[in-house]
Amino acid sequence: MSDDLPTGVERRDIQGTDRLATWGEPVYGEPTDGEWRAWNPDRSKLGAMLESGMDTGLAGGADETVLYLGAASGTTVSHVADFAGPTYAVEFAPRPTRDLLSAAESRPRLFPLLADARKPGSYAHVVEADVDAIVQDVATRGQARVALENRRFLADDGRLLLAVKARSEDVTRDPADVFADVREELAEGYDLLETERLEPYHEDHLGIVARPLE
Ligand code: SAM
Repeated sequence: MSDDLPTGVERRDIQGTDRLATWGEPVYGEPTDGEWRAWNPDRSKLGAMLESGMDTGLAGGADETVLYLGAASGTTVSHVADFAGPTYAVEFAPRPTRDLLSAAESRPRLFPLLADARKPGSYAHVVEADVDAIVQDVATRGQARVALENRRFLADDGRLLLAVKARSEDVTRDPADVFADVREELAEGYDLLETERLEPYHEDHLGIVARPLE
């Protein structure tokens, strides 16, 4: 476990509460101090992973490239684009993508892509090779498979930061069994470095930090 936060992510007093924060325009009605915006771990799995002290390996800074899968309307990926460099944000639903485009207006390093994360070939011509991190929060069946299929984009020393939602795989199964299966499938292409349940922020979700196998 590490308390290191990426450069550009700070703990700040925002409206009287100590919070994780990034510097940028607000996106989802989060409190700000005028410059820094609170990063709410209840609304963000990556925020919950950082708040839980998981060692994400994220360094932050303009040189760090990120592929984000399952961007939705941009709640989390907007924070990532506040602290990282080029941030490719894949989302396949048109309605949230419209909001994602708004979040990108004040963020020149955020590149929204209306695409299916199960078809990485459809955005391979846009996403640069060897990204430093893949952040995945797709909440659909086959979450391990999506991570394996997008491994091609990840640098050899890069990190996969995956949030697994048990109920998206199978609502009827014990989440612990679902997580065991996901871990086993993921091991086909990744070395799992750290796993942690994301309660109390997100029920029946597992946070995983992994690196690609050679
Ligand atoms: N990561 C977001 C955040 O923290 O702001 C929330 C993501 S939400 C839990 C899951 C999103 O993944 C949904 O917007 C859904 O449309 C998207 N999604 C699911 N399957 C996908 C796929 N195959 N390709 C792209 N997006 C997908």
